[in-house]
Amino acid sequence: MADREELFYSSKNVYDVMDDAERARCYEYAEGYKRFLSNSRIEREAVREAVRLAEARGFKPFEEGAKYAPGDKIYFDNRGKSLFLAVIGERPAGEGINLAAAHIDSPRIDLKQIPLYEDSGVAMFKTHYYGGIKKFHWVTIPLELHGRVCRADGSFVDVCIGREPGEPRFCISDLLPHLAAEQMKKSLADGFTGEDLNIIIGTRPDPEKGEDRVKFAIMKLLNEKYGIVEEDFLSAELMAVPAFDVVDIGFDRSLIGGYGHDDRVCAYAELAAILELERPVKTAVCLLVDKEEVGSTGVTGMQSEAFDRFMDSLCGGTRLYDCYAKSFCLSADVCNAFDPNYASVSEKRNAAQLNHGLGIVKFTGSRGKAGASDASAEVVSRVRTMFAKAGVVWQLAELGKVDAGGGGTVAMFTAVRNIDTIDAGVPVISMHAPFEIIAKADAYMTYKGMRALYDCE
Ligand code: MN
Ligand code: MN
Repeated sequence: MADREELFYSSKNVYDVMDDAERARCYEYAEGYKRFLSNSRIEREAVREAVRLAEARGFKPFEEGAKYAPGDKIYFDNRGKSLFLAVIGERPAGEGINLAAAHIDSPRIDLKQIPLYEDSGVAMFKTHYYGGIKKFHWVTIPLELHGRVCRADGSFVDVCIGREPGEPRFCISDLLPHLAAEQMKKSLADGFTGEDLNIIIGTRPDPEKGEDRVKFAIMKLLNEKYGIVEEDFLSAELMAVPAFDVVDIGFDRSLIGGYGHDDRVCAYAELAAILELERPVKTAVCLLVDKEEVGSTGVTGMQSEAFDRFMDSLCGGTRLYDCYAKSFCLSADVCNAFDPNYASVSEKRNAAQLNHGLGIVKFTGSRGKAGASDASAEVVSRVRTMFAKAGVVWQLAELGKVDAGGGGTVAMFTAVRNIDTIDAGVPVISMHAPFEIIAKADAYMTYKGMRALYDCE
């Protein structure tokens, strides 16, 4: 007679499965991830960091028209904002490619194109937030400024200020409680407007008499440091991100707190896994894409034909359609971790739990799975087999209660190309907040899951 153990399902705690040696590997992996996250505050920096790591492991820039042989390691840098890496497999691409897709953009505060102004002796930047944020999170926290300013002559300068110890930081103000009687009556959604998220950048007036003396002094500083004039902001992409360090959380150091786990924790898992490959049976592809937080749009988003073009070049004459039909993709994006502080939005039986491993999400979407790429039973079965073989601890997860809300990932954009796809990622606490939390055990199991995918025959 079968016993309960055989008949019942429940997810497992990673700590009940890992032995001491694997726990040491898990915590060592976490240190590598913390460094990556710390150096990758925006997508451009994530691409740069990934290229640096890949080149150290023998990856070479992709060359259009080159013929690649099994074991060749290549990367394609798409405009410095998304990155595709591949290790060529023994079998031809027509027999299918194993893909993992994560995004490297995160919610943040972008500067407007004409951002700089002075009001009442304070110089400020106007902003337009990027991605799904709760606006009240972004006031009264220290901010760093990152990005690129392109000048009229086509030259550019990269900006990164506030990251290094001792560098100045920036801040969006909030009202003192003493005068907030009216504000406190508003809902969380209405209490802060997008146009109120203006960043304080300076107050010292230029000695020269005239209009906007603080703005003038700031522009002088920027001109000296970066060689730019105000008009150069028109062709700039500057973004304010939280100036929080990536740190261990908890007495036991089991968690990591930081900005941008969504989705750099999965991006790093894919990257770490593909960097280890020598000669996979099937070609392995790691996609680190931009613009997921705003719909995967644009030339560097998952919907861009840059992806098809790169894949086609791996096909060596085989029709791209045939390759897609036989390929398999893990859409590596974070999911929501059950939070005991906010239990009411989750349905406990189907929610991802911290430390229960890689979260597999069969469908996303909202209001009756609308917009979801709902993976088939066969696809779920395939990952069960794959993960069992590789000793990956994983759990089946759903974002929240039915009709409580919803969300999407890049899964629908690989699935629509006829690539079997399923969402697989790390459960996150406080997702999209300036300081998110993940468990080291889950990050490590996600890396193991990505490795299992790339090792698939
Ligand atoms: Mn995400
Ligand atoms: Mn997100």
